[in-house]
Parts: sequence; C-alpha cells; structure tokens
Amino acid sequence: MKNTRSAAATKQRTFEERLAQRLRSRKISDAKLRARQAQGKIRRFVNTNFFKAETVASLSLRRGECNRCGACCELVFKCPFLKKNSDGSSTCGIYENRPNSCRLFPIEPRDIMEVRGTCSYYFIEKPVRLGKAS
Ligand code: SF4
Repeated sequence: MKNTRSAAATKQRTFEERLAQRLRSRKISDAKLRARQAQGKIRRFVNTNFFKAETVASLSLRRGECNRCGACCELVFKCPFLKKNSDGSSTCGIYENRPNSCRLFPIEPRDIMEVRGTCSYYFIEKPVRLGKAS
C-alpha cells in the first residue's frame, strides 16, 4: 500500500516536473522569439532607411501577395494603428503614411520566421549567373 502511494507520488511529481519543464521551455522559446522579433524590427528599420540598394536587391527575390493577416503588425507588440476586421483581415490605420519597414515587410526570408509562418510571401533563391562561353 505504502509502495503504491509512493509510486503514485513519484509519478505525480514526475508529471508536475515534466509540466514545469515544458512551461519553462515554452517561456524560453517565446522569449527567444520576442528577442528575434525585436532584433528584426531594428534590422528592418536600419536596412530600409540606410541600405536601400541591398533592400531592393532582397525584395527582387520576394514573391507572393499579402494576405492581410496582420501578423507583421504584432511583432513584439501590437501596433496601435492595426485594426482587425470582422472577416479576420487587418487594416492599417495609417496605410498611406506607414513607415518603410512596414511597407516593405518581409524583406528577407528570416522576416517570415518572425511571424511564425503566417505570412503568404515567400522568397526564391538568388539566380545563378552563368559565365560567358569562351
Ligand atoms: S505577415 Fe505577411 S501576409 Fe501577413 S499582413 Fe504582414 S506582409 Fe501581409
């Protein structure tokens, strides 16, 4: 009887420990994603304002269309100008005057990773230039 209770307590503790471990790892992965998102916001701000040629080159590899999910407007924090529509789509309250980093999202494939894959854009590989035949 005592052994059964002790085994049950061990099993319970193991379950609780596993749950705590899972919550800890989820918190860590959430914190890592937030850190990546914050880094991405700064990177896009710098690139769209100071590295325009590189930004244009990167955008030339982008394909697809915006599905208006609004996920890029909720990176790190929800943009105060974001309006959610009843059909699930999103609208920007300052669409005509939005900053370049919003206007041009996503600029690189890693930007898409920051929105957990909800973005409908994708990037193609950079085409390889073949040398002239001699
Ligand atoms: S995450 Fe991509 S698809 Fe969604 S609103 Fe932003 S740019 Fe459009």
